[in-house]
Amino acid sequence: MAEILDGRKVARTVLQSLRGRIEALPRRPGIAVVRVGEDPASAVYVARKTQRAERLGLHHEEIHLENTVDQARLEAVVDDLNARDEIDGILVQLPLPAHVDRTAILDRIDPAKDVDGFHPDNTGRLSQGRARFVPCTPLGVMLLLERTGVSLSGKRAVVVGRSNIVGRPMAMLLEQANATVTVCHSRTADLQAHLAQADVVVAAVGRPHFVKGEWLKAGAVVIDVGINRLEDGSLCGDVDTQAAAERVGWITPVPGGVGPMTISMLMANTVAAAEARQG
Ligand code: NDP
Repeated sequence: MAEILDGRKVARTVLQSLRGRIEALPRRPGIAVVRVGEDPASAVYVARKTQRAERLGLHHEEIHLENTVDQARLEAVVDDLNARDEIDGILVQLPLPAHVDRTAILDRIDPAKDVDGFHPDNTGRLSQGRARFVPCTPLGVMLLLERTGVSLSGKRAVVVGRSNIVGRPMAMLLEQANATVTVCHSRTADLQAHLAQADVVVAAVGRPHFVKGEWLKAGAVVIDVGINRLEDGSLCGDVDTQAAAERVGWITPVPGGVGPMTISMLMANTVAAAEARQG
């Protein structure tokens, strides 16, 4: 039976380690979260982020805009946050409405305040192995992998999904940790053959129970990034966890795996931004 990688527990130790750093700063780190529209999942994610910031004693603001907000207004909000000294980190909650040019908005965030790590300056730096802000979810996954004690060097890792938010930066981090990385996506031929070889699997697809237990290598480390809401209102990941747990060595639960890590990494990036900005 697989060992369960408890993201809540690891996240707690990360958050604990930030307290001393926060106290050492001349001014409380500040984070601003911009939310557009009434997407219920976004509302939940933003509430979790601001609650966590509150408990850590950070200055936090939520800027909630109507779904009909135009590009110019949203850009003006970002410009204002870029200019304000007490704001160290800016996060624009995705998804944005279809009429908004999301790339233009993310590109407008000051890279020194880009605590989500989505600005091309930051993704470019990450790709060159000189990261400043690393996207929170893949960064959290790396910490969970570290907790297994399994060395990634020389291991075969398969990342399923190639989004800019999860799959792509995940692959870069695994490669920088000396794993041999394969990135699979919707056009991959014979995904199962790739997974059968994988010592480490990161699933970031967005489809409930997509990865079947029998596709996985015995003893593998399996990280399930997916968050899918089922019709009965419950949450599940991209991996058929029950079947997988009988076969693999380590697995993350959903909820309670990668999700809490993402939020704690956002706090860590915000503290790092504040340290850099406050000298
Ligand atoms: P995207 O929809 O942006 O990307 C999904 C990826 O999955 C794409 O690269 C897509 O391929 C690939 N894919 C789709 N179908 C298949 C298939 N049949 N076989 C192989 N690959 C496939 O999603 P995100 O990366 O933003 O998120 C992925 C999941 O992670 C979601 O469930 C999301 O909710 C969750 N998530 C969880 C977080 C957390 O904190 N735990 C944070 C962020 C996301 P292609 O590129 O070819 O279309």
